[in-house]
Amino acid sequence: MGWRLRIMTYYSLHQNSAIASFKQATLLGQAPDKGLYFPAIIPAFEPKWLKDIEHHSNEAIAFETIQPFIGDEIDKSSLQCIVQETINFPIPLIDVTDQIAVLELFHGPTHAFKDVGARFMSRCLGYFTRETHQKAIVLVATSGDTGGAVAHGFYNVEGVDVLILYPSGKVSAVQEKQLTTLGKNIHALEVDGTFDDCQQMVKTAFADTSFTGKLFLTSANSINVARWLPQQIYYLLAWKQWKNKSMPPVFSVPSGNFGNICAGMLAFLRGMPAHRFIAACNANDTVPSFMETNSYQPKPAVATLSNAMDVSDPSNFVRILALFHQSQEKLRQVLSAVRISDEETRTTLRRVHHSTGYTLDPHGAVGYLALERYLNEYPEKAGIFLETAHPIKFYNVVEPVINSKVPMPESVKGVLELEKKSVMVEADYLALKAYLIRSYS
Ligand SMILES: *Cc1c(COP(=O)(O)O)cnc(C)c1O
Repeated sequence: MGWRLRIMTYYSLHQNSAIASFKQATLLGQAPDKGLYFPAIIPAFEPKWLKDIEHHSNEAIAFETIQPFIGDEIDKSSLQCIVQETINFPIPLIDVTDQIAVLELFHGPTHAFKDVGARFMSRCLGYFTRETHQKAIVLVATSGDTGGAVAHGFYNVEGVDVLILYPSGKVSAVQEKQLTTLGKNIHALEVDGTFDDCQQMVKTAFADTSFTGKLFLTSANSINVARWLPQQIYYLLAWKQWKNKSMPPVFSVPSGNFGNICAGMLAFLRGMPAHRFIAACNANDTVPSFMETNSYQPKPAVATLSNAMDVSDPSNFVRILALFHQSQEKLRQVLSAVRISDEETRTTLRRVHHSTGYTLDPHGAVGYLALERYLNEYPEKAGIFLETAHPIKFYNVVEPVINSKVPMPESVKGVLELEKKSVMVEADYLALKAYLIRSYS
């Protein structure tokens, strides 16, 4: 691109904190007023660059997508290196039917799409803390996949410890092993509660001023700009591979905390072609209800087959509203939100497997059905659903439904044999605080 921003600033969506640079926002995670950081401007893609996208390498696309949000705070060759390590696995777009293609985001080390954001963020944090001598403690609440992706992304990164909080008994066997078996600088806290409890404990820790100046706590959830922003790359890589450039795709995104879909809509507002976005949700339907009633009423989270989306109060929804300047009318022109039940998830898994041979995971099945319903209404359109996890991670759900085995990748076989190491804690902030004090002071 012909021009470059030298610096990007971020403001807190609560409007009560000073503006921050990319570095500051990455190190802090959340703004001091507990708001989410949001870029001060939305940098547009250059139309000619977008038009030529098929001729750019994946690395070049990733670099141009993320660079304006960082400016000069990471030098060009270091950023190129970070980007290369972030997407050093395939992200293929594959036709499932005439109208529906799948963007497979599960070819990374933990077979979940969160690998991209986690790898990018860990390397940025490593870059920024290289010169400080204080240990960074990354606190992360996970409903399943974030934990494994963050654990792998940060494994062995010097000067960084990772504490993963996950809801006991509410993640899959593979997910649990991925986040409890690494050791070294990765520690797993098994919380006797829900994902929302885990998220609340982490939020409270960040707001706890008794740690200020003593411990350097930061987040790796999708609220961190360094986790959230690189997710735009998926959509650009989908567009690169989309054949019918005269008819931009509908994107259907299995959504929990709404970080992924929010990144897609950001790419769209920067000029990337898309017809529409569908937030595909499970029974945790706060956003679908909001789109129906105009009233935002989070209910307690309920457990579903697509457990990484069991989120009742999605943190990133405020960013989506900010993207559309709080205008629900503008938002509705771009976004639909639908709820899909567990029963529908099962029948979709079975039907798609039988009719096309493609094996979905429960999250992908939610995305598939949401897209299919839309296309039934608008048969002249075509679309892409994001497959956010490999079906092997949910084999206990998938195999009985499709009545056959999901072939197990070698890397998953290995992890299932390792011994789980976790510390059980109550769903209470004081339990986390006690752990932090015991371990780090
Ligand atoms: C995290 C996750 C989601 C939800 O993504 P958000 O960005 O939180 O909306 C969907 N599917 C899988 C497999 C996930 O791990």
